[in-house]
Amino acid sequence: MLRECKEHGYFRADYCPVCGQEGRFLMNSEELDRLSRTLAGVLRHFPERFDLEVDSYGFVDLRRFVNAIQAKQRRYHWLRPHHILAIIETDNKGRYEFKDGKIRATYAHSFEVELDTSNVGIPDSLYYPATEEEVDIIIETGIKPSDRKRVHLSKTVKDAVNAGRVRTESPVILEVDVKSAVEDGIVVQKAGKTVYLAEEIGPKYLKKIDVDLSEFPPDRPQPDDQKPDMAETPEDQPEADDKGEPE
Ligand SMILES: [Zn+2]
Repeated sequence: MLRECKEHGYFRADYCPVCGQEGRFLMNSEELDRLSRTLAGVLRHFPERFDLEVDSYGFVDLRRFVNAIQAKQRRYHWLRPHHILAIIETDNKGRYEFKDGKIRATYAHSFEVELDTSNVGIPDSLYYPATEEEVDIIIETGIKPSDRKRVHLSKTVKDAVNAGRVRTESPVILEVDVKSAVEDGIVVQKAGKTVYLAEEIGPKYLKKIDVDLSEFPPDRPQPDDQKPDMAETPEDQPEADDKGEPE
């Protein structure tokens, strides 16, 4: 299902993968599945079926998209732009892009589109919190997904400090050279407002950085009985896609 954490953005799980809170319900798995198919179908193949104008870059106005869906399918009377944004932001394959109030598919169109791939939305650097005990071994061997299926990286130093404080009072922050990693073929995907998922990150992309932790006072005490590490991550959700995707 699709939910929203006030602090960490949208996520496809029962609990926020960062803080473990339940957050706000947006739609159930079936609705997510159906809407994802519609989104992919319209943006990749048949915008004209919904009377939607597409620019030469494949962008469609988000508000018009929402209105068009509602007009065609009454079951989506509750649909608002943020529901679509939530799907886009949590798509683990980066199938969609949102920019200046418009949305588009990032690949697999059946009509001609100019795709400027310069802006795929993945920052050049991301951050990872380690404990003091493990940091030396990570610098030497890289970041490996442990019980999780994939490595969780944070968008900013502050996000990494907050994520790290779940496990240790004084996290050591590693900067990940995402630009080089992506150039080398490592897949990094956005999974929420501040969270990115990656496969294993080798040591050559890692650099320990000096962080003054006093600049980032804890927001609030973390309850001991919560285990955000065990929360379901977005990749556990079933894939929702349009049929007959030419890939
Ligand atoms: Zn959260």
